[in-house]
Amino acid sequence: MTLYPKSQAILSENSRFIPGGVVSTNRAVDPPIVFRRAEGAWMWDVDGNRYLDYHAAFGPYVLGHNDRHVNAAVLRVIEEGRSLFGSGTTELEGELGRLICDVVPFLDSIQVLNTGSEATYQALRLARAATGRDHIIKPQGGYHGWHNDVACNLMTPLSTLGPRRNADEYPFLPISGGIPAGHSELVHAVNFNDLESVEAMCRKYPIAAFITEPILQNVGLIHPQPGYLEGLRALADKYGFVLIFDEVKTGFRHALGGFSSLAKVTPDLVVYGKAIANGYPLAVIAGKKYLMDLFVSPDASNRVLLAGTYNGHPVPTAAAIATIKRLAENNAAIYTHFETLGARMQTGLEKILKETGNRAVVARQGSAFCTYFMDHLPLDWHDLISNNDPEQDNHLRRDLLDRSIYFFQLPMKQCSLSAAHTEADVDFTLEGVQSVLSAKLQT
Ligand code: PMP
Repeated sequence: MTLYPKSQAILSENSRFIPGGVVSTNRAVDPPIVFRRAEGAWMWDVDGNRYLDYHAAFGPYVLGHNDRHVNAAVLRVIEEGRSLFGSGTTELEGELGRLICDVVPFLDSIQVLNTGSEATYQALRLARAATGRDHIIKPQGGYHGWHNDVACNLMTPLSTLGPRRNADEYPFLPISGGIPAGHSELVHAVNFNDLESVEAMCRKYPIAAFITEPILQNVGLIHPQPGYLEGLRALADKYGFVLIFDEVKTGFRHALGGFSSLAKVTPDLVVYGKAIANGYPLAVIAGKKYLMDLFVSPDASNRVLLAGTYNGHPVPTAAAIATIKRLAENNAAIYTHFETLGARMQTGLEKILKETGNRAVVARQGSAFCTYFMDHLPLDWHDLISNNDPEQDNHLRRDLLDRSIYFFQLPMKQCSLSAAHTEADVDFTLEGVQSVLSAKLQT
């Protein structure tokens, strides 16, 4: 069994100064491994253990850790003295804007922020300013960051969720303390893949926006059913709400134009983060001109404040430019690699799960995958939480650690391959899964 004495000592020392010892409560998992460095698909902890990484730091590492092209771009801006000026603009910001609008043709313009949460916050503000309405809809099980409107209805246990609600909304269920009570009246959570609920909400409330990940990737990987995203587009046009696709996880990972381009459905606003800068803190809000121009509206009454000391910081901006160029220049090779490796992983996992008598399914999109211990691919969070067995998932993840394979230590969390993963890595992982599940069979 792998041991973590140094990790444990560091966590307990850090806990003296940092509540819980971690800087994001989402990172507080057991065992508390303290990582020290990473290269490509591999990570090393302070105790000298190494791990094949499928967590990818919650998704950013599309090219792999410590990518030399991204590193070179970052070092270049530092060496050239391209400081943060906090005044006017820079050539780098324009280069990033041009590049993104080139590779994602449905975008008119972009704005640059630091995190996905900031970007979804701004997207909702733009939608409210544009429509003059306050109500928003989000799917049960969708994650869009930590701010008040969206820090709700995520990973809700079945006992709290209660019976399934069709053509209806779930109560506002905050996942954080400190959210003012008024928010519960403005945020309506519905099942993913349920167009009737969205329409019912539009009849009941003046809706400013529907915000959704096009694939729910914070509860594994729940695909939109055929026609769902198109149906959302049609409802947005019919009822005049702003359709926001949160592509913080799916953008640049599944295709340069994110899942929108694969699904061929164009949102009004889209939000990118994570893979866009291969591990550096940068997010983008982008979309239709009439919405984006509200940031510079001559009418002060609906101009949307855009501010942030670090927006467009040269280091993450250079990292994003280098990442997107690398993805664009090797577009076919990288996304084919993801499909080939992803398919190898999926078929391998399905075979092992079946042979070891597990009732399980594997959900996948390109490089991202997740095993659910249930007999069908879930349609939405209610379906998932009603049928999945998280304990089996927990055990698999825990036992894989001892075989140097790092799936994030929480059930239903999606795994990501990177361009640095190889066929041999996938086979090593499958051997690990085989040995864990066969051992379980014998006990
Ligand atoms: N949207 C989605 C879909 C995400 O997965 C996340 C982060 N997991 C966010 C928004 C928030 O991004 P950040 O953590 O950079 O604020």
